This record gives sequence, C-alpha cells and structure tokens, in this order.
Amino acid sequence: MSETLFTKIINREIPAEIVYEDDQCLAFKDINPQAPLHVLVIPKKSIAKLAHATPEDQALLGHLLLTANDVARDQGHADDFRLVINNGIEAGQSVFHLHVHILAGRSFSWPPG
Ligand code: AMP
Repeated sequence: MSETLFTKIINREIPAEIVYEDDQCLAFKDINPQAPLHVLVIPKKSIAKLAHATPEDQALLGHLLLTANDVARDQGHADDFRLVINNGIEAGQSVFHLHVHILAGRSFSWPPG
C-alpha cells in the first residue's frame, strides 16, 4: 500500500497533536475539527479502508473501538460521542489509511449528510 500522510504522522515525519499511542494504534486531534472534540484513531498497520480489513484484523479492529471509547472518556466525553468510519470516496473518505473519527462536545443530527 502506498504511504499516506497518516503513515508520516505515525513515523513522526509530520507533526500531530497525539493524545494516545500504544503498540497497535495512534490517536491524534483532527486538523480540521468538526466538533469541539475531533480525534482520529488509526491502526499502525497500513489498511487503506475498512473494506480491506481481513479476519486477521479482527482483534485490531476491536482494539480501535475500545481505544476510541477510552480516548473519548479521557478527553471528557464518556457518555456522548459519535464514531464514524468513512469507507471509500463516495462515503467521504479522503485519507486512505483506516481511521475512526471520534466526535463529541455538541449535538449531532441523524441521518448524517
Ligand atoms: P476522512 O475524510 O474520513 O478520510 O477523514 C480524514 C480526516 O483527516 C479529515 O477529517 C481531515 O481533517 C483529517 N486530516 C487531514 N490531514 C490531517 C493532518 N495532517 N493531521 C490531522 N488530521 C488530518
């Protein structure tokens, strides 16, 4: 898979406001926040999009969700937050390295735009 800017963030080649890191994933503030809290949780493994994940990634995907929950709580939003995974251009994906958006701190409408 070709390297994206998220790989560069993992490798500290470009700066980001990192709020959590472990051996499997990294969480950092979105550069263009859509809510008072907008953090991206990404796997260190390069997976372009969720549709490219395999059964081998099952534990990693679970880890991303549990990490998102922990980060939302640690950032002061234990009870109300939204998680979003955009998969593919039509769904709004612009960076092709799997990421979970954590959005919190305001009300959200449904259905999303
Ligand atoms: P998506 O549109 O779902 O692929 O989300 C990509 C997200 O990455 C967008 O919300 C962007 O604002 C965010 N983003 C792009 N470049 C950076 C960066 N250098 N640091 C942090 N977030 C970024």
